Amino acid sequence: GGDRKSKTRTPAFLTFDEIGGQDRAKKELTEALDFLIKHEEIKKLGIRPLKGILLTGPPGTGKTLMAKAAAHYTNSVYLAASGSEFVEMYVGVGASRVRDLFKEARSRAVKEGKDNAIIFIDEIDVIGGKRDGGQQREYDQTLNQLLTEMDGIHTNDAPRILIMAATNRKEMLDSALLRPGRFDRHIEVELPDKKGRLSILNIHVKNKPLAAGVSLDTIAEQTFGFSGAQLEGVLNEGAIYAMREDKKEIEQHHLASAIDKVMMGERTDKETAQ
Ligand code: ATP
Repeated sequence: GGDRKSKTRTPAFLTFDEIGGQDRAKKELTEALDFLIKHEEIKKLGIRPLKGILLTGPPGTGKTLMAKAAAHYTNSVYLAASGSEFVEMYVGVGASRVRDLFKEARSRAVKEGKDNAIIFIDEIDVIGGKRDGGQQREYDQTLNQLLTEMDGIHTNDAPRILIMAATNRKEMLDSALLRPGRFDRHIEVELPDKKGRLSILNIHVKNKPLAAGVSLDTIAEQTFGFSGAQLEGVLNEGAIYAMREDKKEIEQHHLASAIDKVMMGERTDKETAQ
């Protein structure tokens, strides 16, 4: 999904507590982010500072949420862009947009008195895909500019800039992006297991009235393979079914129908995409 979608779906600030499941990914991410926070110690030990973190995994699993929570955790300003934004641009426009993004990150951090800036680039594979056989593409300049900016980050001076990028096609990425000093930290954000699904459901049910006896545990059981975004969709659709029946509370059968609806929706999406 793109930046546009995420902006409307996700709140501007959130903490790791508002991300359900993903215990391993959250732990790996906070450990990496501690490098940014403890930059003095890092420097003394001669450890190479962290510049880029790559989040990989299927759509709707919370990669954007992770980047936003990372900004909160590290007292950073948060800027977002999507790889697909650059595709339609004329030669050179993408590159200057990248330059502006870094400039804006620095100036906003200074203005808002933040220690760091996190730039989140969703769908990085769109600009950072493998270059096949020297074939020049319009947006190679965009990628080159991104690499130049990353190489030019001086991590000793505040505001420190960290780039987080997301992809669900890691194997497609150009190796230039994955070199040490670039996106050399990879964190896998996977589809949630049952425990993770239950915790995601519990997060999104907070503003919704459930009828007595509704078992979210059962819903978690019945939603094998669902992403966080789909689970949020189940609760939302369930509430819509309740409203259609003039009910003030969401009942188990509303959620059961919602599961079917969300599953069907995915199928139709895929069919129409083919
Ligand atoms: P995409 O690849 O499509 O951009 P993404 O991995 O970045 O997906 P997000 O944009 O972070 O996914 O998630 C979309 C929405 O799904 C969130 O705003 C939230 O409502 C819900 N969601 C996804 N994962 C989780 C989670 N682990 N905990 C709570 N909510 C989640």
